Amino acid sequence: MILRAPLIDTHGRTVRDLRLSITDRCNLRCVYCMPAEGMPWLPKQDLLTFEELARFARVCLECGVHSVRLTGGEPTVRADLHVLVRMLHELAPGLDLSLTTNGLKLVEMSPALKAAGLTRVNVSVDTLSRERFHQLARRDRLAEVLAGLEAARAAGFSPIKVNAVLMRGVNDDEVVALAGWARDEGYELRFIEWMPLDFQHSWERSRLVPAAEILEQLEHAFLLEPEDGDDPSAPARTFRYRDGRGRVGVIASVTRPFCGTCDRIRLTADGQVRTCLFANREYDFRRVLREGGTDDEIEALLRAAVLRKLPGHLISQPGFVQPARGMSAIGG
Ligand code: SAM
Ligand code: SF4
Repeated sequence: MILRAPLIDTHGRTVRDLRLSITDRCNLRCVYCMPAEGMPWLPKQDLLTFEELARFARVCLECGVHSVRLTGGEPTVRADLHVLVRMLHELAPGLDLSLTTNGLKLVEMSPALKAAGLTRVNVSVDTLSRERFHQLARRDRLAEVLAGLEAARAAGFSPIKVNAVLMRGVNDDEVVALAGWARDEGYELRFIEWMPLDFQHSWERSRLVPAAEILEQLEHAFLLEPEDGDDPSAPARTFRYRDGRGRVGVIASVTRPFCGTCDRIRLTADGQVRTCLFANREYDFRRVLREGGTDDEIEALLRAAVLRKLPGHLISQPGFVQPARGMSAIGG
């Protein structure tokens, strides 16, 4: 692999982490993410091919990126996902290569993903109640998600992280139950504040559960201590259970943004770079990739994008405008 200069923005942050949204489609319809019906999916031909994704990732790796996360939409609905995983793994065998998934397809896919070089999985579980899952994800499929988690463990993924988004009046009474369950199962749970990134623009500040409230509930139920040496660019604030049985984290994207240490860029499912989930500006790499652009041209556009990365998101500022595209197209 050739070496290129690191991607450093004008606020002194270096890009190290790449999020690749590989499809905007999904087999669930979580209420905080998508409407029940009527999602205008991207045309299939606009999705980058595995070769295009791997080429883009290679240039990023040459510029010092050292972790790649596959996300979406639901990345496991893309056929032959293990082939993409292998292509990325072969770019740099020591690469930290992870997957964020709703877990539905992990029973059938875990062994092939592990064999292809995937290093970590994050699985989303917002509730432990079958009825509530049905209501939240609009599909009655909790049992498959839990079986998927088991399959990921059996395939040897470790640690396994679980993401939970809480909504006021929906699942905010499950903080302690989710934490206790994850701890017993050996999964590392991270609560995520609901962000204004749902496709249908139904987000309301009053319906997000702030990290401070989640922590208060956790501290009431468990003895916790803040993790020393947290990676400053990691979005989660993590805590150890004092009895040594695991960790729990809180991602306070809204109430306690971590933009100052952000080291991420994102490629949308249709090949546009966004330097922030909340950026409205996109850089068209699909065009460069499909119109014969050289690696140096890809690098030049990357540098132009990174140089314009804003210091932070403006969710809590007056006049904040939610990005037109939702999390499922941008890549969570
Ligand atoms: N489909 C996969 C999944 O659900 O894990 C990957 C994509 S999903 C967009 C990535 C993560 O973002 C999930 O943990 C999901 O719960 C979370 N998420 C989705 N919409 C969100 C929102 N508006 N605010 C905060 N988190 C959100
Ligand atoms: Fe699908 Fe993930 Fe969005 Fe739920 S959060 S609808 S699983 S993309």
